[in-house]
Amino acid sequence: MTTSRFAPSPTGHLHLGHAWSALQAHDLARDSGGRFLLRIEDIDEGRCRAEFVTATEEDLRWLGLNWDGPVMVQSLRASLYADAVAQLAQRGLAYRCWCSRAEIAAAASAPQGDAPPLYPGTCRHRTPPFPDQPYCWRLDVTAALAETGPLRWQDARAGTVAARPQDQGDVVIARKDALSSYHMAVTIDDAAQGVTDVVRGRDLFSATHIHVLLQALLGLPTPLYHHHPLIAGPSGARLAKRDKAPTIRALREGGTDPVQLVAELRGARFPFGFSLMED
Ligand code: GLU
Repeated sequence: MTTSRFAPSPTGHLHLGHAWSALQAHDLARDSGGRFLLRIEDIDEGRCRAEFVTATEEDLRWLGLNWDGPVMVQSLRASLYADAVAQLAQRGLAYRCWCSRAEIAAAASAPQGDAPPLYPGTCRHRTPPFPDQPYCWRLDVTAALAETGPLRWQDARAGTVAARPQDQGDVVIARKDALSSYHMAVTIDDAAQGVTDVVRGRDLFSATHIHVLLQALLGLPTPLYHHHPLIAGPSGARLAKRDKAPTIRALREGGTDPVQLVAELRGARFPFGFSLMED
């Protein structure tokens, strides 16, 4: 049975882009009589607020996107993410890192475009005494790939994709300033919720290379991925905060008919000059 999920971070109100993404995930499951789940990705306690969790649920209900079963809340599951990191550390696949962003930028080779610099591996073989400072955990991607061998995953649009987690370097799998990391939490939870189909924006395509590696390391299944196109603002560029994408709340308060809005979205027709970006 198809099981999909919508997994927003409660850092603000849902906007048109979220509604589009949630609708894709919802319809994929419902069209085949499957399950549609909701997960609240609130590991970053500094940025997430309880009022946005309530608002998210209200907005989804208003859109008619009802989910099955209880809502999974990541902030209640921190110990599971920590256990997985500890397991990888024990196997010599994860290490502690004390580097600041400035140190990484200074030590790394010239950045490629907008991408953050690859972690240069400063702490990979660090020996005690360790600094008495907060640290994050990083995945030793070379050691991890040596264990798993080459990996592949399936994307409904892109077809078979060869996983290239090494292109992102030793990514953080437990942040020092949050309860875990996006990569670890999403990997554990997609498996825990029995998600067969991950529907999310094209902007997260590169994250999937990491998730597939973590799944292989932790003995978890790899779902089928559907990375959908993003929504462009009236300028034609990718939807950004400055585009002030209308929130679902504002549309509701402005008298929008949710049934009509959802019907328009299903036809990939967007209000206010928004449109679908080509890949
Ligand atoms: N929580 C992520 C976000 O709001 C989405 C995670 C995912 O779908 O994998 O962007």
